[in-house]
Amino acid sequence: MTDRTHDPALRSWVDSANEPGADFPIQNLPFATFLTGAGPHVGVAIGDRILDATAALGVPSLQSVMAMPKAGRLDLRHRISDYLVTRRTGAESHLSPLAGSRLLLPCMIGDYTDFYASIHHATNVGSMFRPDNPLLPNYKWLPVGYHGRASSIVLSGTPIRRPSGQIAEFPAGPPVFGPSRRLDYELELGAFIGPGNALGRPIPIAEAADHVVGVCLLNDWSARDIQTWEYQPLGPFLAKNFATSISPWVVTAEALEPFRRAPEPRPANDPQPLPHLQSPTADAYDITLEVWLRSARMPAPMRVSHTSFRAMYWTLAQMVAHHTSSGCSFRPGDLIGSGTVSGPLKENRGCLLEVTWRGAEPLELPTGEIRRFLEDGDEVILRGRCEAPGVRPIGLGECRGTIAS
Ligand code: MN
Repeated sequence: MTDRTHDPALRSWVDSANEPGADFPIQNLPFATFLTGAGPHVGVAIGDRILDATAALGVPSLQSVMAMPKAGRLDLRHRISDYLVTRRTGAESHLSPLAGSRLLLPCMIGDYTDFYASIHHATNVGSMFRPDNPLLPNYKWLPVGYHGRASSIVLSGTPIRRPSGQIAEFPAGPPVFGPSRRLDYELELGAFIGPGNALGRPIPIAEAADHVVGVCLLNDWSARDIQTWEYQPLGPFLAKNFATSISPWVVTAEALEPFRRAPEPRPANDPQPLPHLQSPTADAYDITLEVWLRSARMPAPMRVSHTSFRAMYWTLAQMVAHHTSSGCSFRPGDLIGSGTVSGPLKENRGCLLEVTWRGAEPLELPTGEIRRFLEDGDEVILRGRCEAPGVRPIGLGECRGTIAS
């Protein structure tokens, strides 16, 4: 449900928040953790400023926000909104410019799981390897995922080192050990989890959406040549555990409320989800996601693709319900990745593997350079934005990463 904090006419005393096109108007209020003279504090983006919510409102840490029940998060949103709508004496002292702020990872991420929830991505990738049978039998019954690696999640802007690994020229080997030549990005949405569940107590689908605190942009860097050799029979391993970049801002589920939609209808012949994965509410989100690429020789990045998060086959709530249906526990601050977000059209493809169709259709850059996969010095920029009629648009900011040379 929307409330006064979503009113498109609402304005902040922080002028830059009222400019059209701002990512962070008063209706957004995303959280980050940033470094102050007194240590890491909770920040809230407002226009081109960051509000020190620890100093101004006593919010101890983002981890503590993740641990709150939904009602507590809603109450906190109202307090922050009121603080930034009605100016009080001395409030300016709790603001600092966003530019030059030292942002940190939002919280201590205990566990990270990556899904594969875009049927367009799964169909594209599957058809490269199994043209007659791109989707495996389980795909339409459960959101496929794998347990990822929390220790190598890095903040946007962190340089990405090209991994080395076992690479085989032929399917039966033998492999050689060396730097990946097929380094890729994956455009994904990340979701921070809270408050979570006790071991052995699944989160029912009707409550699952309340355990999504908010979202960020996520780049699941992938070494396709390492992946091809190692992934059977247990799934991705070293091809994806060398780095995962996330954007610093946690855009809350409350801020996304005006952009919540019913998922796109499933084709008539597709099975309905089993009862424990059938959502009683509309729990998809209409979020426009983009990938931009800039080689070291390009003065400005070019847009490679754009897509909508609404086109996912499985929603974040279904991922949460499925993940815990075994009794597996989520802890506050755990992170799930949606899987590569691709859409039905060529311009909606969320990774280079799809964009260049395994290198068969190379991408030409404005400089005349050719890309099949990422080269040293390439920068990948993910962007996200929500727009809807009669609603103040909000942005997710950016997730950047450059391949170190
Ligand atoms: Mn992925």
